[in-house]
Formats: sequence, C-alpha cells, structure tokens
Amino acid sequence: MDGDNDALDQTVDPEDLGPIHIDVPCVTCGYNLRGLTIEKACPECGTAAGRSVMGDQLEYADPQWVGRLAMGMNLIIGGIAVAVVFTLFGRPTWLFPAAFQAAADRILSRIDEALFLIGCWYLTASEPRHKVAGFGAATVARVGLTAGMLIGLPLFAIANLALPIVVHLTMIAAAVASVTGTIGLAIHARGLALRGPYEELANRIRSVAIVYVVGIVLAVIISVVDAVTATPGGGRPTWLSSRMLRRMGGCMARVLIVGFHVWALVVVVQFRWAMVHAAAKARSTWASTV
Ligand SMILES: [Zn+2]
Repeated sequence: MDGDNDALDQTVDPEDLGPIHIDVPCVTCGYNLRGLTIEKACPECGTAAGRSVMGDQLEYADPQWVGRLAMGMNLIIGGIAVAVVFTLFGRPTWLFPAAFQAAADRILSRIDEALFLIGCWYLTASEPRHKVAGFGAATVARVGLTAGMLIGLPLFAIANLALPIVVHLTMIAAAVASVTGTIGLAIHARGLALRGPYEELANRIRSVAIVYVVGIVLAVIISVVDAVTATPGGGRPTWLSSRMLRRMGGCMARVLIVGFHVWALVVVVQFRWAMVHAAAKARSTWASTV
C-alpha cells in the first residue's frame, strides 16, 4: 500500500515542484507561505513549509508526535502480550520473595491494563499544530478508558463489604465508560489510519468497531432478557430451559468471541505496524529537518 509512496520519495525532488503558487497558511503560525519552495522553512516560525502543503499525511506531520503514536501502539501491543502470557502461564509471582508475593500479584494483575492505558494516552496525544485540542474521539477515548479503569479499581476493596446493588452499579458504570472509550479509540485510530494514508486498514478498523458494537448490544440484550425472564426460583422459562440449546448457544458464542479477538488483534498489530512505519517516514522526510 505504500510502494507508490516509496517510489515518489525517490523520484520527486521537492525543489523540482517549484515555488508554492497559491496562498497556503503555515500550519504552526499561519504565515502565508506563497512563493516559497516546499523544502524551505517558514520564515516566521521555522516549520518546514512542506508540512503545510502536504495536507494531513502522517509522514509530513510533526515527527515527534508521529513517534508518540508509534510508542503508544508499542505499549498497547505490550499490554496485550502481557495479558496473553499471564493468561496462558499465570502471573510470575514466584519472581518475588514470599513476603511480597501477595502485593506483587496485585500489581501484576493490573500491569497489562496500565500498559494499555498509557499506550492509549500516547496514541491520543494532541497534535502540536492544533493549539487548542477539541473534544473529539481522542478525548472520548482518554476520558472513557481512564474512567473505566479508575471506577473499577475500588471494587477490589469494597466487593465484600458493599451492597450488591452498589457493586452492580459500579461495574455497569465502569463497563459503560470502557466501552465508550474503546469506541472513541477506534474512531480516533481510523482517522489516523486514513492519514497514513492506509485506507484499507481504516476500513478494517471500522469493521472491527462495528462488530464490537453489535456484540456489546447483543450481550446487553441477552443479559436483560435473562434477568427479566429468570423466575424467582432461579429456573428458566420453558423456551430457554433446553439445556442442550443453551449449551450449544454458549459454545457458539465462545467460538465467535475468540474469533473476534483474534481478528481484532490482527488489525491492532497491522495498525501498530502502520504507525511505526509512519513514524520512521516522518523522521526521514525533509519535513523533519526543520
Ligand atoms: Zn510558520
């Protein structure tokens, strides 16, 4: 998807493009760059003129900022890797002296989430050229995911003491915040992919997000139906009581959920590659020199 761009980098010398012949405001200070060639710097603030001309492409954006996006994706992948390893092999509390194992286990149990959250903050860092950050998908992602983690935290301490209704409401609030944050993150990531430009990847991110939302809506409907139709004795009405049917449904749901996670992980890994690639390019183009 980037073969064409590589060819372009090698064959087009910015100098050959000639001076900018229309009014183009500098992305940093607004100075009119008309008359400059795009490899020159803005005389007012020193930002590469090319950054203002080449539109939104990541490789012509602030290299430090694109580097932050790549760093964010590395942390997110790191968090996912830790979660997978811990799930498969258990948490390595044996690394710590016996007296600290309980505390270590508590910290280790949140480390994947912490890596993921820090990665999300890097990935949603506001671009330097936008002096005032708007309330966009990036903000929704930050607020939602952070709130989801913080609201859930005290549950560890109060789960045994608090009234069941309080625990339930806290869990619902944490889940709503996390889901909202995840949707915000997907919209933000799709926007970044479009600026790669990695259009196919952007489409894949949208598909994953749509399936995610449909899955959440289905899960909510199923649990509401379950709660409403449960009889006080704990039994199920006849149409739901076939054990075989329920077991088959549960099995299929599990296969679908695992399949979705694998698919989403592949897209996340591709997105990480895209951001690392964009960061390397942003550092190597002439836009990074000034
Ligand atoms: Zn300027």
